[in-house]
Amino acid sequence: MSTSTSATRMHEITGENRKVVDLVLSYSRERLLAEDTPLDKPQTEAALDALVGQTISEEGLGAEQALAHFTETLAPACITTDDPSYLSFIPCAPTKAAAAFDVVVSASGLYGGSWLEGAGAVYAENQVLSWLAAEFGLPATAGGVFVQGGTLGNLSALVAARESARSAGRTVARWKVVCSEEAHSSIASAARVMDVDVVGVAPDADGVLRGDAVRAALDEHGESVFAVVATTGSTNFGIVDDVASISEVTRARGIWLHVDGAYGLSAMLAPSHRHLFAGVEHADSVIVDPHKWLFAPFDACALIYSDPEKGRRAHTQHAAYLDTLTEKADWSPSDFAAHLTRRPRGLPLWFSLASYGAAAYRSAISASLELAQEIADEIERRPYLTLLRRPQLSVVVFERDGWSKDDYEDWSARLLDEQRAFVTPSGHEGRTNARFAIINPRTTIEALRGILDSMAD
Ligand SMILES: *Cc1c(COP(=O)(O)O)cnc(C)c1O
Repeated sequence: MSTSTSATRMHEITGENRKVVDLVLSYSRERLLAEDTPLDKPQTEAALDALVGQTISEEGLGAEQALAHFTETLAPACITTDDPSYLSFIPCAPTKAAAAFDVVVSASGLYGGSWLEGAGAVYAENQVLSWLAAEFGLPATAGGVFVQGGTLGNLSALVAARESARSAGRTVARWKVVCSEEAHSSIASAARVMDVDVVGVAPDADGVLRGDAVRAALDEHGESVFAVVATTGSTNFGIVDDVASISEVTRARGIWLHVDGAYGLSAMLAPSHRHLFAGVEHADSVIVDPHKWLFAPFDACALIYSDPEKGRRAHTQHAAYLDTLTEKADWSPSDFAAHLTRRPRGLPLWFSLASYGAAAYRSAISASLELAQEIADEIERRPYLTLLRRPQLSVVVFERDGWSKDDYEDWSARLLDEQRAFVTPSGHEGRTNARFAIINPRTTIEALRGILDSMAD
Protein backbone atom coordinates (compact mmCIF):
# COMPACT_ATOMS: atom_id res chain seq x y z
CA MET A 1 0.00 0.00 0.00
CA SER A 2 1.36 3.39 -0.88
CA THR A 3 1.26 6.15 1.63
CA SER A 4 1.50 9.61 0.25
CA THR A 5 4.37 11.46 1.88
CA SER A 6 5.22 15.03 1.06
CA ALA A 7 8.00 13.85 -1.26
CA THR A 8 5.72 11.66 -3.36
CA ARG A 9 2.52 13.69 -3.15
CA MET A 10 2.87 15.13 -6.65
CA HIS A 11 3.68 11.81 -8.31
CA GLU A 12 1.36 9.24 -6.83
CA ILE A 13 -2.07 8.30 -8.06
CA THR A 14 -4.17 9.83 -5.35
CA GLY A 15 -7.62 11.34 -5.32
CA GLU A 16 -6.02 14.78 -5.61
CA ASN A 17 -3.97 13.81 -8.64
CA ARG A 18 -6.87 12.09 -10.37
CA LYS A 19 -8.70 15.35 -10.07
CA VAL A 20 -5.73 17.27 -11.49
CA VAL A 21 -5.48 14.96 -14.49
CA ASP A 22 -9.23 15.09 -15.10
CA LEU A 23 -9.29 18.88 -14.88
CA VAL A 24 -6.46 19.30 -17.37
CA LEU A 25 -7.68 16.68 -19.82
CA SER A 26 -11.23 17.92 -19.79
CA TYR A 27 -10.00 21.46 -20.50
CA SER A 28 -7.81 20.09 -23.31
CA ARG A 29 -10.72 18.15 -24.75
CA GLU A 30 -12.97 21.19 -24.62
CA ARG A 31 -10.34 23.41 -26.24
CA LEU A 32 -9.65 20.89 -29.00
CA LEU A 33 -13.33 20.63 -29.83
CA ALA A 34 -14.30 24.26 -29.35
CA GLU A 35 -15.89 25.96 -32.34
CA ASP A 36 -15.89 29.42 -30.84
CA THR A 37 -12.42 30.07 -29.40
CA PRO A 38 -11.95 33.81 -29.85
CA LEU A 39 -8.92 35.26 -31.61
CA ASP A 40 -7.83 36.85 -28.32
CA LYS A 41 -5.05 39.37 -27.87
CA PRO A 42 -2.08 40.20 -25.68
CA GLN A 43 -2.33 42.12 -22.41
CA THR A 44 0.23 44.38 -20.81
CA GLU A 45 2.33 43.02 -18.00
CA ALA A 46 0.65 45.50 -15.67
CA ALA A 47 -2.79 44.18 -16.62
CA LEU A 48 -1.66 40.60 -16.04
CA ASP A 49 -0.12 41.64 -12.72
CA ALA A 50 -3.48 43.07 -11.69
CA LEU A 51 -5.48 40.06 -12.86
CA VAL A 52 -3.17 37.21 -11.95
CA GLY A 53 -0.29 38.46 -9.83
CA GLN A 54 2.11 36.13 -8.08
CA THR A 55 1.14 32.51 -8.53
CA ILE A 56 4.17 30.76 -7.09
CA SER A 57 4.16 30.14 -3.37
CA GLU A 58 5.47 27.54 -0.93
CA GLU A 59 2.01 26.03 -0.41
CA GLY A 60 0.79 26.14 -4.01
CA LEU A 61 -2.56 27.44 -5.24
CA GLY A 62 -4.08 24.07 -5.97
CA ALA A 63 -4.75 22.89 -9.51
CA GLU A 64 -8.22 24.33 -9.70
CA GLN A 65 -7.07 27.84 -8.95
CA ALA A 66 -3.96 27.59 -11.15
CA LEU A 67 -6.02 26.30 -14.07
CA ALA A 68 -8.57 29.06 -13.51
CA HIS A 69 -5.79 31.65 -13.90
CA PHE A 70 -4.82 29.97 -17.14
CA THR A 71 -8.26 29.55 -18.65
CA GLU A 72 -9.67 32.90 -17.52
CA THR A 73 -6.69 35.21 -17.99
CA LEU A 74 -3.49 33.73 -19.36
CA ALA A 75 -4.89 31.77 -22.32
CA PRO A 76 -7.05 34.73 -23.49
CA ALA A 77 -3.88 36.83 -23.44
CA CYS A 78 -2.42 34.57 -26.14
CA ILE A 79 -3.47 35.04 -29.75
CA THR A 80 -5.16 31.93 -31.12
CA THR A 81 -2.62 30.91 -33.75
CA ASP A 82 -4.94 28.36 -35.33
CA ASP A 83 -7.71 30.90 -35.84
CA PRO A 84 -8.56 31.06 -39.56
CA SER A 85 -8.25 34.86 -39.39
CA TYR A 86 -4.70 34.69 -38.05
CA LEU A 87 -2.84 35.74 -41.20
CA SER A 88 0.35 37.31 -39.79
CA PHE A 89 3.88 35.90 -39.88
CA ILE A 90 3.34 32.23 -40.71
CA PRO A 91 0.37 30.84 -38.74
CA CYS A 92 0.03 27.37 -37.24
CA ALA A 93 -2.98 25.22 -38.05
CA PRO A 94 -2.65 21.77 -36.47
CA THR A 95 -5.05 19.05 -37.53
CA LYS A 96 -7.30 17.73 -34.80
CA ALA A 97 -5.41 14.42 -34.81
CA ALA A 98 -2.02 16.11 -34.55
CA ALA A 99 -3.05 18.49 -31.78
CA ALA A 100 -4.73 15.72 -29.80
CA PHE A 101 -1.77 13.40 -30.19
CA ASP A 102 0.54 16.04 -28.77
CA VAL A 103 -1.23 15.37 -25.48
CA VAL A 104 -0.28 11.69 -25.81
CA VAL A 105 3.38 12.51 -26.39
CA SER A 106 3.40 14.34 -23.06
CA ALA A 107 1.20 11.85 -21.23
CA SER A 108 3.55 9.02 -22.13
CA GLY A 109 6.73 10.86 -21.17
CA LEU A 110 8.28 9.66 -24.40
CA TYR A 111 11.96 10.27 -24.98
CA GLY A 112 13.06 10.69 -28.58
CA GLY A 113 16.81 11.12 -28.33
CA SER A 114 17.97 7.55 -28.78
CA TRP A 115 16.84 4.31 -30.33
CA LEU A 116 17.56 2.53 -27.04
CA GLU A 117 15.07 4.63 -25.13
CA GLY A 118 12.50 5.49 -27.78
CA ALA A 119 12.72 2.92 -30.59
CA GLY A 120 8.99 2.89 -31.28
CA ALA A 121 8.69 6.66 -31.38
CA VAL A 122 11.84 7.05 -33.46
CA TYR A 123 10.63 4.38 -35.88
CA ALA A 124 7.40 6.30 -36.47
CA GLU A 125 9.18 9.66 -36.77
CA ASN A 126 11.60 8.15 -39.28
CA GLN A 127 8.73 6.93 -41.41
CA VAL A 128 7.53 10.51 -41.70
CA LEU A 129 11.03 11.74 -42.55
CA SER A 130 11.38 9.02 -45.22
CA TRP A 131 8.00 9.90 -46.65
CA LEU A 132 8.95 13.58 -46.82
CA ALA A 133 12.33 12.71 -48.34
CA ALA A 134 10.62 10.66 -51.05
CA GLU A 135 8.21 13.54 -51.76
CA PHE A 136 11.19 15.84 -52.14
CA GLY A 137 12.90 13.38 -54.50
CA LEU A 138 15.80 12.75 -52.11
CA PRO A 139 17.59 9.37 -52.18
CA ALA A 140 16.10 6.45 -50.25
CA THR A 141 19.04 6.65 -47.82
CA ALA A 142 18.06 10.18 -46.76
CA GLY A 143 17.19 10.75 -43.13
CA GLY A 144 17.44 13.16 -40.26
CA VAL A 145 15.55 14.38 -37.25
CA PHE A 146 12.76 16.62 -36.07
CA VAL A 147 14.27 19.61 -34.29
CA GLN A 148 12.64 22.50 -32.49
CA GLY A 149 12.34 24.90 -35.41
CA GLY A 150 13.69 26.06 -38.73
CA THR A 151 16.32 28.23 -37.07
CA LEU A 152 17.88 25.23 -35.35
CA GLY A 153 17.38 23.14 -38.49
CA ASN A 154 19.25 25.64 -40.65
CA LEU A 155 22.03 25.95 -38.08
CA SER A 156 22.43 22.19 -37.76
CA ALA A 157 22.48 21.69 -41.54
CA LEU A 158 25.07 24.43 -42.02
CA VAL A 159 27.26 23.02 -39.24
CA ALA A 160 27.17 19.66 -41.03
CA ALA A 161 28.00 21.38 -44.32
CA ARG A 162 31.05 23.10 -42.86
CA GLU A 163 32.19 19.91 -41.17
CA SER A 164 31.93 18.14 -44.49
CA ALA A 165 34.06 20.82 -46.19
CA ARG A 166 36.62 20.68 -43.38
CA SER A 167 36.84 16.91 -43.44
CA ALA A 168 37.53 17.11 -47.17
CA GLY A 169 40.74 18.87 -46.17
CA ARG A 170 39.76 22.39 -47.09
CA THR A 171 41.25 25.08 -44.92
CA VAL A 172 40.32 28.69 -45.42
CA ALA A 173 40.74 31.88 -43.43
CA ARG A 174 36.99 32.62 -43.21
CA TRP A 175 34.21 30.23 -44.16
CA LYS A 176 31.33 31.70 -46.16
CA VAL A 177 27.76 30.72 -46.89
CA VAL A 178 26.04 32.00 -50.03
CA CYS A 179 22.32 32.79 -50.01
CA SER A 180 19.80 35.20 -51.48
CA GLU A 181 19.44 38.62 -49.97
CA GLU A 182 15.84 37.51 -49.43
CA ALA A 183 16.92 34.51 -47.32
CA HIS A 184 15.43 34.16 -43.85
CA SER A 185 17.05 35.93 -40.89
CA SER A 186 17.90 32.54 -39.38
CA ILE A 187 20.68 32.08 -41.96
CA ALA A 188 22.42 35.21 -40.69
CA SER A 189 21.75 34.03 -37.15
CA ALA A 190 23.36 30.64 -37.88
CA ALA A 191 26.33 32.40 -39.44
CA ARG A 192 26.81 34.52 -36.31
CA VAL A 193 26.69 31.45 -34.10
CA MET A 194 29.16 29.64 -36.36
CA ASP A 195 31.34 32.73 -36.81
CA VAL A 196 31.19 32.49 -40.60
CA ASP A 197 30.34 35.17 -43.16
CA VAL A 198 27.18 35.48 -45.21
CA VAL A 199 27.47 36.37 -48.88
CA GLY A 200 24.05 37.81 -49.72
CA VAL A 201 23.39 37.58 -53.45
CA ALA A 202 20.85 39.85 -55.13
CA PRO A 203 18.05 37.80 -56.65
CA ASP A 204 16.59 38.62 -60.05
CA ALA A 205 13.92 41.33 -60.35
CA ASP A 206 11.21 38.70 -59.69
CA GLY A 207 12.84 37.92 -56.33
CA VAL A 208 14.08 34.50 -57.47
CA LEU A 209 17.72 33.53 -56.92
CA ARG A 210 19.10 31.64 -59.94
CA GLY A 211 22.19 29.65 -60.79
CA ASP A 212 23.92 32.44 -62.71
CA ALA A 213 24.01 34.75 -59.71
CA VAL A 214 25.23 31.91 -57.50
CA ARG A 215 27.96 31.05 -60.02
CA ALA A 216 29.18 34.64 -60.01
CA ALA A 217 29.31 34.65 -56.19
CA LEU A 218 31.25 31.39 -56.17
CA ASP A 219 33.68 32.77 -58.77
CA GLU A 220 34.29 35.70 -56.48
CA HIS A 221 34.54 33.87 -53.16
CA GLY A 222 35.93 30.54 -54.37
CA GLU A 223 37.13 27.93 -51.92
CA SER A 224 35.90 29.78 -48.87
CA VAL A 225 32.25 28.95 -49.61
CA PHE A 226 31.16 25.81 -47.74
CA ALA A 227 27.43 25.95 -48.57
CA VAL A 228 24.82 27.57 -50.76
CA VAL A 229 21.34 28.07 -49.31
CA ALA A 230 18.35 28.09 -51.64
CA THR A 231 15.08 29.32 -50.13
CA THR A 232 11.96 27.54 -51.33
CA GLY A 233 9.34 29.95 -50.16
CA SER A 234 10.72 33.19 -48.74
CA THR A 235 8.91 34.16 -45.58
CA ASN A 236 8.03 37.66 -46.73
CA PHE A 237 6.70 36.90 -50.23
CA GLY A 238 6.72 33.12 -50.59
CA ILE A 239 9.20 33.30 -53.45
CA VAL A 240 10.80 30.01 -54.51
CA ASP A 241 14.44 30.15 -55.62
CA ASP A 242 15.32 28.30 -58.81
CA VAL A 243 16.83 25.24 -57.16
CA ALA A 244 17.32 23.45 -60.49
CA SER A 245 19.82 25.99 -61.85
CA ILE A 246 21.41 26.56 -58.43
CA SER A 247 21.94 22.84 -57.97
CA GLU A 248 23.68 22.58 -61.33
CA VAL A 249 26.25 25.05 -60.04
CA THR A 250 26.69 23.47 -56.61
CA ARG A 251 27.06 20.01 -58.10
CA ALA A 252 29.62 21.17 -60.64
CA ARG A 253 31.68 22.74 -57.84
CA GLY A 254 31.12 20.10 -55.18
CA ILE A 255 29.53 22.56 -52.76
CA TRP A 256 26.88 21.62 -50.21
CA LEU A 257 23.38 22.72 -51.20
CA HIS A 258 21.00 23.42 -48.34
CA VAL A 259 17.33 24.05 -49.09
CA ASP A 260 15.51 26.21 -46.56
CA GLY A 261 11.91 25.21 -47.12
CA ALA A 262 10.70 25.96 -43.60
CA TYR A 263 7.50 27.50 -44.84
CA GLY A 264 7.22 26.70 -48.52
CA LEU A 265 8.57 23.22 -49.18
CA SER A 266 5.21 21.82 -48.06
CA ALA A 267 3.74 23.14 -51.31
CA MET A 268 5.75 20.45 -53.10
CA LEU A 269 3.00 18.07 -51.94
CA ALA A 270 0.52 19.90 -54.17
CA PRO A 271 0.70 18.41 -57.68
CA SER A 272 -0.04 21.84 -59.18
CA HIS A 273 3.10 23.36 -57.61
CA ARG A 274 5.57 20.50 -57.61
CA HIS A 275 7.35 21.79 -60.70
CA LEU A 276 8.44 24.96 -58.85
CA PHE A 277 10.71 22.82 -56.71
CA ALA A 278 12.66 21.02 -59.44
CA GLY A 279 16.22 20.48 -58.25
CA VAL A 280 15.37 19.92 -54.58
CA GLU A 281 16.27 16.27 -55.20
CA HIS A 282 19.91 17.38 -55.45
CA ALA A 283 19.99 19.03 -52.01
CA ASP A 284 22.48 17.80 -49.44
CA SER A 285 20.11 18.95 -46.70
CA VAL A 286 16.61 20.37 -46.51
CA ILE A 287 14.33 21.67 -43.80
CA VAL A 288 10.57 22.04 -43.64
CA ASP A 289 8.57 23.12 -40.58
CA PRO A 290 5.55 20.91 -39.87
CA HIS A 291 4.42 23.63 -37.43
CA LYS A 292 3.94 25.89 -40.42
CA TRP A 293 2.26 24.27 -43.40
CA LEU A 294 2.13 20.59 -42.46
CA PHE A 295 -0.51 21.15 -39.83
CA ALA A 296 1.44 20.01 -36.78
CA PRO A 297 1.51 21.83 -33.44
CA PHE A 298 4.53 23.87 -32.31
CA ASP A 299 7.33 23.15 -32.41
CA ALA A 300 8.71 20.94 -35.14
CA CYS A 301 11.15 21.26 -38.02
CA ALA A 302 12.04 18.26 -40.16
CA LEU A 303 15.77 18.34 -40.95
CA ILE A 304 16.73 15.84 -43.63
CA TYR A 305 20.20 15.03 -44.98
CA SER A 306 20.62 13.20 -48.26
CA ASP A 307 23.57 11.45 -46.58
CA PRO A 308 22.68 11.30 -42.88
CA GLU A 309 26.20 10.10 -41.99
CA LYS A 310 27.40 13.64 -42.64
CA GLY A 311 24.92 14.94 -40.11
CA ARG A 312 25.89 12.29 -37.61
CA ARG A 313 29.63 12.98 -37.95
CA ALA A 314 29.08 16.68 -37.35
CA HIS A 315 26.74 16.40 -34.39
CA THR A 316 27.19 13.24 -32.30
CA GLN A 317 28.11 14.16 -28.74
CA HIS A 318 30.71 11.97 -27.07
CA ALA A 319 30.85 11.41 -23.33
CA ALA A 320 31.53 8.43 -21.13
CA TYR A 321 27.91 8.20 -20.02
CA LEU A 322 26.75 8.26 -23.64
CA ASP A 323 29.16 5.60 -24.95
CA THR A 324 26.53 2.92 -24.50
CA LEU A 325 24.44 4.81 -27.07
CA THR A 326 27.04 6.18 -29.46
CA GLU A 327 29.11 3.00 -29.81
CA LYS A 328 26.17 1.26 -31.46
CA ALA A 329 25.03 1.74 -35.04
CA ASP A 330 21.45 2.38 -33.86
CA TRP A 331 19.67 5.41 -35.25
CA SER A 332 19.62 7.99 -32.49
CA PRO A 333 17.95 11.28 -33.42
CA SER A 334 20.15 13.20 -30.98
CA ASP A 335 23.09 12.55 -33.30
CA PHE A 336 21.79 14.58 -36.22
CA ALA A 337 21.52 18.14 -34.89
CA ALA A 338 22.83 20.53 -32.25
CA HIS A 339 20.82 19.07 -29.38
CA LEU A 340 20.71 16.05 -27.07
CA THR A 341 17.56 15.57 -24.98
CA ARG A 342 14.51 15.76 -27.19
CA ARG A 343 10.82 14.93 -27.17
CA PRO A 344 9.70 12.96 -30.24
CA ARG A 345 8.05 16.06 -31.62
CA GLY A 346 7.48 14.41 -34.98
CA LEU A 347 4.87 12.06 -33.51
CA PRO A 348 1.85 14.38 -33.78
CA LEU A 349 2.53 14.68 -37.51
CA TRP A 350 3.07 10.93 -37.79
CA PHE A 351 -0.24 10.17 -36.08
CA SER A 352 -2.12 12.66 -38.20
CA LEU A 353 -0.56 11.53 -41.50
CA ALA A 354 -1.11 7.88 -40.61
CA SER A 355 -4.72 8.63 -39.65
CA TYR A 356 -5.91 10.84 -42.47
CA GLY A 357 -3.52 9.82 -45.24
CA ALA A 358 -1.27 11.93 -47.45
CA ALA A 359 -4.02 12.83 -49.93
CA ALA A 360 -5.80 14.88 -47.25
CA TYR A 361 -2.60 16.88 -46.80
CA ARG A 362 -2.30 17.49 -50.52
CA SER A 363 -5.81 18.79 -50.72
CA ALA A 364 -5.50 21.01 -47.62
CA ILE A 365 -2.30 22.59 -48.98
CA SER A 366 -3.82 22.99 -52.45
CA ALA A 367 -6.81 24.81 -50.95
CA SER A 368 -4.58 27.56 -49.54
CA LEU A 369 -2.64 27.84 -52.80
CA GLU A 370 -5.91 28.36 -54.67
CA LEU A 371 -7.26 30.79 -52.09
CA ALA A 372 -4.08 32.90 -52.43
CA GLN A 373 -4.66 33.21 -56.18
CA GLU A 374 -8.30 34.05 -55.67
CA ILE A 375 -7.66 36.84 -53.16
CA ALA A 376 -4.80 38.16 -55.34
CA ASP A 377 -7.33 38.50 -58.20
CA GLU A 378 -9.65 40.33 -55.86
CA ILE A 379 -6.90 42.72 -54.73
CA GLU A 380 -6.09 43.48 -58.37
CA ARG A 381 -9.75 44.32 -58.96
CA ARG A 382 -9.99 46.80 -56.09
CA PRO A 383 -8.99 50.34 -57.08
CA TYR A 384 -7.57 51.31 -53.66
CA LEU A 385 -5.21 48.34 -53.45
CA THR A 386 -2.02 47.36 -55.27
CA LEU A 387 -0.83 43.76 -55.39
CA LEU A 388 2.98 43.79 -55.06
CA ARG A 389 3.46 40.50 -56.94
CA ARG A 390 1.45 37.51 -58.00
CA PRO A 391 1.80 34.95 -55.21
CA GLN A 392 3.90 31.91 -56.11
CA LEU A 393 2.73 30.12 -52.97
CA SER A 394 0.26 31.30 -50.32
CA VAL A 395 1.70 34.63 -49.17
CA VAL A 396 -0.13 37.63 -50.62
CA VAL A 397 1.43 41.08 -50.22
CA PHE A 398 -0.33 44.29 -51.14
CA GLU A 399 -0.45 48.01 -50.46
CA ARG A 400 -3.33 50.29 -49.55
CA ASP A 401 -2.82 53.31 -51.76
CA GLY A 402 -2.09 56.47 -49.82
CA TRP A 403 -1.55 54.83 -46.43
CA SER A 404 1.35 55.68 -44.14
CA LYS A 405 2.96 53.24 -41.74
CA ASP A 406 0.76 54.68 -38.97
CA ASP A 407 -2.38 54.03 -41.02
CA TYR A 408 -1.40 50.37 -41.37
CA GLU A 409 -0.57 50.13 -37.66
CA ASP A 410 -3.91 51.69 -36.65
CA TRP A 411 -5.87 49.47 -39.01
CA SER A 412 -4.07 46.34 -37.83
CA ALA A 413 -4.66 47.22 -34.16
CA ARG A 414 -8.33 47.90 -34.88
CA LEU A 415 -8.78 44.52 -36.58
CA LEU A 416 -7.34 42.77 -33.55
CA ASP A 417 -9.25 44.94 -31.09
CA GLU A 418 -12.48 44.10 -32.86
CA GLN A 419 -11.38 40.46 -32.87
CA ARG A 420 -11.86 40.28 -36.62
CA ALA A 421 -8.41 39.26 -37.77
CA PHE A 422 -4.72 39.28 -36.96
CA VAL A 423 -2.90 40.94 -39.84
CA THR A 424 0.30 42.76 -38.95
CA PRO A 425 1.87 45.27 -41.34
CA SER A 426 4.98 44.13 -43.17
CA GLY A 427 7.44 46.03 -45.33
CA HIS A 428 9.40 45.92 -48.53
CA GLU A 429 12.08 48.29 -49.78
CA GLY A 430 11.22 50.84 -47.11
CA ARG A 431 7.47 50.83 -47.83
CA THR A 432 4.86 49.45 -45.48
CA ASN A 433 2.40 46.88 -46.79
CA ALA A 434 -0.20 44.38 -45.72
CA ARG A 435 0.42 40.68 -45.98
CA PHE A 436 -1.74 37.57 -45.77
CA ALA A 437 0.05 34.32 -44.98
CA ILE A 438 -2.57 31.71 -45.77
CA ILE A 439 -2.02 28.18 -44.54
CA ASN A 440 -5.18 27.43 -42.59
CA PRO A 441 -7.62 25.41 -44.71
CA ARG A 442 -10.45 26.99 -42.68
CA THR A 443 -9.61 30.48 -43.91
CA THR A 444 -12.36 31.59 -46.28
CA ILE A 445 -12.48 33.98 -49.21
CA GLU A 446 -15.34 35.80 -47.49
CA ALA A 447 -13.20 36.50 -44.43
CA LEU A 448 -10.36 37.78 -46.61
CA ARG A 449 -12.73 39.98 -48.62
CA GLY A 450 -14.05 41.39 -45.35
CA ILE A 451 -10.52 42.38 -44.38
CA LEU A 452 -10.05 44.12 -47.74
CA ASP A 453 -13.37 45.93 -47.17
CA SER A 454 -12.03 47.23 -43.86
CA MET A 455 -9.27 49.04 -45.76
CA ALA A 456 -11.66 50.86 -48.07
CA ASP A 457 -12.05 54.01 -46.01
C1 LIG B 1 10.00 30.42 -40.45
C2 LIG B 1 11.21 30.29 -41.26
C3 LIG B 1 12.44 29.94 -40.70
C4 LIG B 1 12.63 29.82 -39.21
O1 LIG B 1 11.88 28.77 -38.69
P1 LIG B 1 11.50 28.75 -37.14
O2 LIG B 1 10.76 27.48 -37.01
O3 LIG B 1 10.65 29.96 -36.90
O4 LIG B 1 12.77 28.79 -36.36
C5 LIG B 1 13.51 29.76 -41.54
N1 LIG B 1 13.39 29.92 -42.86
C6 LIG B 1 12.23 30.25 -43.45
C7 LIG B 1 12.16 30.40 -44.92
C8 LIG B 1 11.09 30.45 -42.66
O5 LIG B 1 9.93 30.79 -43.24
